[in-house]
Amino acid sequence: MSEIFAVSSKLQEAYEFAYKNNITSMESIELFHPTRPMTRQEFAKMIYNTQSAIIPQDTSNPASCDIDFWDASSFDSTLMDFIDKVCAKWIMRWSHNLFHPNDSLLRSEALASLIRAIAPNQILSEDNTNKQWWDAYQKYAEEHGIIFQDADFEKPILRGEFIEWAYILSEGKSEKIPEIFYTYHKDFTDLYREYKNNHFMENVLSDILQRIQIPKGLSFKYDSCDEANAFYSPENHTITLCYELINQYKQQIQEHPESFWKWALDDLLTETLYHEFWHAIIDMYDLPITWKEEDVADQISAFLLIWERDEASIHAASAYYISAMSDTSDKNDLPYWDEHSLDLQRYYNIMCWVYGSDTEYYSDFLNNETLPLNRALSCEWEYQKMNSSLIRILGDKINF
Ligand SMILES: [Zn+2]
Repeated sequence: MSEIFAVSSKLQEAYEFAYKNNITSMESIELFHPTRPMTRQEFAKMIYNTQSAIIPQDTSNPASCDIDFWDASSFDSTLMDFIDKVCAKWIMRWSHNLFHPNDSLLRSEALASLIRAIAPNQILSEDNTNKQWWDAYQKYAEEHGIIFQDADFEKPILRGEFIEWAYILSEGKSEKIPEIFYTYHKDFTDLYREYKNNHFMENVLSDILQRIQIPKGLSFKYDSCDEANAFYSPENHTITLCYELINQYKQQIQEHPESFWKWALDDLLTETLYHEFWHAIIDMYDLPITWKEEDVADQISAFLLIWERDEASIHAASAYYISAMSDTSDKNDLPYWDEHSLDLQRYYNIMCWVYGSDTEYYSDFLNNETLPLNRALSCEWEYQKMNSSLIRILGDKINF
């Protein structure tokens, strides 16, 4: 090898990741030759192995493709299987099924392939008349830490560049923001667009990540569910936030136009997501609990919210208060049997923990309406007990 190139520590790490995961079989970074463009047949193998490294659970093997090779004589037949698989999975695409094994690959093609391989929820309809998908791909890449030295996507992709991208995105997959799925539903087109663009869930999850390791394999989903709800499904480790619930919160806020409600929607949704997140944590980390799981989820989500933004806890508590006050049913008909505590109990619980987190700062809570003294007396203890218990049961998974 005659060329001299600088090996940054990031490139070295990316190379180690690529070698460990069989994305490259070259034993040293010099042999791997990071400044050389890749051929399409090489890329097919590397992108396939990248997908296997980053989403090992995707073992789907769709029917094979019917490929014509442009120049069969210069084609490495051992790579055929990879080319067939990435074609069948729609990771790599080319026109008229004519594959040029030794052509180089453009950066734009490489980035699109990478996103198709590892972030299926980002895939938009890729028709030529509407280039929005390409803007979305670039945005996705930038948000996940890929820096483009120049915006020239028509240049051939270099080997070093590709493994850096794969490495950066693999970190994003395994340790940072989990998968978020946006389910399109024709009745909720506006909400679908709004939440896909406002990055609300991404922001909530990045706050959680500051404090707690999110279990691997947990994913999040916006969907229509025929009811105003949010729930965790243990069978597929998914937290679903229903469009119907967002609409219900929006409507409740409109009906109560007191000043703070203007910005309370995000707080209500955040509290809802934290609550469901704790159901997921309890299940996936198999945490010990000996009390109603619903109360535990309320407790820990309040605890986390108090850490992040205490006013969000107060807004969420107020929502329970308003819900209780607007419920006109006979007190004998209230759902005492339910696994959730009554709305008014949830309100007093959360207010108690907020107060307990800083009794001086929240001393104005001490009145019969906000938080009666009889309960307030135990709140500091309740809060501290929550704190020490969480540290014990979550150990090195938390960073309080
Ligand atoms: Zn719950």
